[in-house]
Amino acid sequence: MSRPRKAEDPTRWPVPCARCGQHHQTVARWPDGGICGYCYQQAKRTRGACACGHEGVLPGIDEGRPSCRRCSGIQVNVDCRTCGAEEELHSGGRCWSCVLGLTVDDLLADPARGTISPVLLPLAAALKTMKRANSGLTWIRQKHVTAFLRNLAATPEITHESFDELPDSPTRDYVRGLLTEHGVLPRRDELRIRYDNWAAQAPERLSDPRNRDLIRRYIRWHHQRRMNHMDEISRGTFLRAKQEVTVAIDLLNWLTRHDTSMSELTQTHLDLWQAEGPTTRRIAERFLKWAIKTKAAPSGLAIIPHRRGTSPRLPKSAQDEALRSVVNAEGIDNRDRAAAILILVFGQQAENIARLTWDNVSVTEELVTIQLGTIEIALPEPLDQPWRELAANPRHSLTASHPDSNWVFRGAAPGRHIHPGHLTQRLKRLFSTRAARLGTLHELTKLAPVAIIAEALGYSPTTIERHATDSATAYAQYIAATKAFNDRH
Ligand SMILES: [Zn+2]
Ligand SMILES: [Zn+2]
Ligand SMILES: [Zn+2]
Repeated sequence: MSRPRKAEDPTRWPVPCARCGQHHQTVARWPDGGICGYCYQQAKRTRGACACGHEGVLPGIDEGRPSCRRCSGIQVNVDCRTCGAEEELHSGGRCWSCVLGLTVDDLLADPARGTISPVLLPLAAALKTMKRANSGLTWIRQKHVTAFLRNLAATPEITHESFDELPDSPTRDYVRGLLTEHGVLPRRDELRIRYDNWAAQAPERLSDPRNRDLIRRYIRWHHQRRMNHMDEISRGTFLRAKQEVTVAIDLLNWLTRHDTSMSELTQTHLDLWQAEGPTTRRIAERFLKWAIKTKAAPSGLAIIPHRRGTSPRLPKSAQDEALRSVVNAEGIDNRDRAAAILILVFGQQAENIARLTWDNVSVTEELVTIQLGTIEIALPEPLDQPWRELAANPRHSLTASHPDSNWVFRGAAPGRHIHPGHLTQRLKRLFSTRAARLGTLHELTKLAPVAIIAEALGYSPTTIERHATDSATAYAQYIAATKAFNDRH
C-alpha cells in the first residue's frame, strides 16, 4: 500500500534522490544514482515490457524508459517463492496474489474438516483471482470481513435464506453477489426484496395510524406495481422509490401535526410545508399527483418546482471563477483553500467541514480522499494540492491551545474545532458560501436525479443509509463536475 509522502528534509538529506529530485533518505544506490524509499517502492511496482523483450518488473530507467533487472543491473528481490512469478513481494517471499490465496484458503476452510467445502470452491476461486490482489487483501483482512468469511465456512448450507438471517451489511451483500455471480446461489432481485422489506416497515413511521393505509396503497399501486414491470430494479429506482415514500410520510406527519389530512389539503398547506423544509420536499410531487388521481386529495393542487424565498444562487460562471481563484490565487491560506474546495465542488456545508479530523482524510501518493458523513469523496488534481500540503505539515499550527489536536480546522478555543460561522466568515472574502452551495447543488441536479444527490450529499431530511454506491454516485458527480471545470480551463 502506498504511504503518504513525508515532507522533504534538505538539511538532513542534502543529496536529492536521483529520480524524484526530492530530499529523502537514500535507500539504494543504483546505476542512475541514489534512490529514495518512495522511488524504490515505485520501481518495484513498475511493470511492462523492457526494450530487450523481457516482460515483468522494470525497476531500472534507461534513457527515460523503464528497464528490466538484467538490462539495468539492478538487484531487487521480486521472485515469488510460491508461484515463481516476477512480482512485487508482499511477505514471506510471496507475491500479493499468493498471500491472498493462502489467506482465502485459511478463512474458507471448514474448521471441522480443515478443507474448503466443495460448495464454496467457486467463491474461493473468485476471491483468489480478484483483479487487484493488494486491494483484495486489504478488503479481506478487515475484521468484519474475516469474521464473516469464517462464519460462512462453518455454515452447513448456503442459501439466500441463510444469508437473510445474517446481519445486514455491505459484506453480506458483496459476498452474496459473488456467490450469485459464480452460480452458487440462484439470481434474485435483491433490491426488490430490500424495497419490499423496507416498504413493509415504512408505514409504522406515520404518527396517525389512519394514514398507514393510504401509504400502503401508494406503495402497492404506484411503486410496487411499476417495479413489477421491470426485469430488475436499478439502484436509482430503489433509492427514488424510498425517497418518494419518505417524503410522502413526512408530508402526512406534518399534516397530522397541523390537525389536518390529505382530504382537507389546501395549496397553503403545501406551500407552507415546502417553504419550511429542505428543497427535497419537491419530490412529493409524485405522491400528490397519485393522491389527486385516486381522489385521496382535492384536485387542482401543485408542488412548486422551486422553493420560494431561497437565497440567491451563485451562477455557474461565478462558481467556476471562484474555484479558479481558490486554486490559483496567491495569498490564500491553505486551510481556507481546502475548505473552499469542498464547498464549491461538493456543495458541503461549513458545519460538516469544520468537524473534519485527520481520521477522515486519507492522503496517498495516488489519491486524496475525504470522508464526509456517509460518503467518501476523492479529490482530483489540482483540487488535492491544498490537502496534500496540509497533510504534509498537519502540526504546522500547533500551539499551546492545541498541543496535539486532531482537528483539520482548529478553532480559537483550546482543543476545539473552528466555529462554522468563523469559517464562513473567513471564506466570505472569496465567495458567499451559501450561494456557492446552492449553485453547486443546482449544477449537480443536472447530472443526477435530485433524490440521489440529496441522499449522497447528506441533504435528505431522512436517515441516510450507508449504501456502498453513495460514494460511487458522488464520485460520478465529481468526475462530471471537475470535467466541466477542466474543460473550461
Ligand atoms: Zn525519489
Ligand atoms: Zn531488459
Ligand atoms: Zn506468487
